[in-house]
Amino acid sequence: MSFINNWLRPDIKAINVYHVPFSNDMVKLDAMESPFSLSNTLIGQYLADIQLNRYPASASANELQQTLRELMDIPDEFGVLLGNGSDELIQLLALACDAGDTILSVDPSFVMYGMIAKFTRLNYLSVALTNDFEIDADAMQRVIETHSPKLIFIAYPNNPTGNAFDRTVIEKIITSSNALVVLDEAYYAYANDSFLLDIKKYPNLVLLRTVSKIGFAGLRLGLLIAAQDMVAALDKLRLPYNINTLTQVSANFLLKEKKEINQNSQIILKERIKLSSTLGAISGLQVYPSQANFILFKTQNANLLFKFLKVNGVLIKDLSSIPALTDCLRATIGTQTQNQTFINLVKRFYDWE
Ligand SMILES: *Cc1c(COP(=O)(O)O)cnc(C)c1O
Repeated sequence: MSFINNWLRPDIKAINVYHVPFSNDMVKLDAMESPFSLSNTLIGQYLADIQLNRYPASASANELQQTLRELMDIPDEFGVLLGNGSDELIQLLALACDAGDTILSVDPSFVMYGMIAKFTRLNYLSVALTNDFEIDADAMQRVIETHSPKLIFIAYPNNPTGNAFDRTVIEKIITSSNALVVLDEAYYAYANDSFLLDIKKYPNLVLLRTVSKIGFAGLRLGLLIAAQDMVAALDKLRLPYNINTLTQVSANFLLKEKKEINQNSQIILKERIKLSSTLGAISGLQVYPSQANFILFKTQNANLLFKFLKVNGVLIKDLSSIPALTDCLRATIGTQTQNQTFINLVKRFYDWE
């Protein structure tokens, strides 16, 4: 036995490392990235006068906060806390919990909620979604009453199902529990609804957003939005300088292009509608409604279709081994050309014209 094998916590030893599939030269439709890159040719301009021998100029990245407020129309009365991706903010919220506390979410949902609960040795519970991927309101209430969770994570819209849950069910969860309720709006740019302004109404509501799904996954930048006093308290758990200089200057430059960013989101929305109806017209293929930049669909031979796409250079996500998602695959919306390549291959696989 090696030293590390003896030394490591058994529960961590049992975890598989987060797997990122090989994707060189492939049409990459697996990870909800935006296919559009912005002003890359201009990057040299702002990199010219940064000082990498120094710590970032502002430990809390004040200018960047302002840029994000403008991009996402965040009212001045709310506080903003920045993270190295919203993943870091999920971790920060878990670190704010006490030993023995419980985190609650739904299943299937974003895998990091459960992973981070495990890393931080918190209890983790998840309530199964209904067959049409809605929150089971009664089951949720029962778990809230019996386990008094400290944190409740709800992805709105949800990943990997793509739908936005019934708003009234979420409101009931917020008002009927003593938990801090975290609405993860990673896909806000593609959704019809948001809880942003509800922060005024509910003292136990926190929102998470990220720039990962709107064109800047490489920056690793997420934000937590909540009442000022909430943000001030949670800020104690943030490591100083967590947003590095390269991310700060890049984001300040690139995220000011609000119009272009919004236009790109609109293109993705149009492509999603097109792709949904084209896929839906293939017999035996069931497309689920989406308010995100990806589409979940169910089909016969999902695993074979996934492999067929892969050998032909298109990478999507195979979810068929998840019990609630038997025969399901998830495809990120790409450019028009990428989507066409994808759809042509699907049609060829099912020999459907
Ligand atoms: C992609 C995703 C995130 C991760 O965001 P990062 O800012 O890239 O860490 C968080 N929540 C949900 C629901 C996601 O789908």
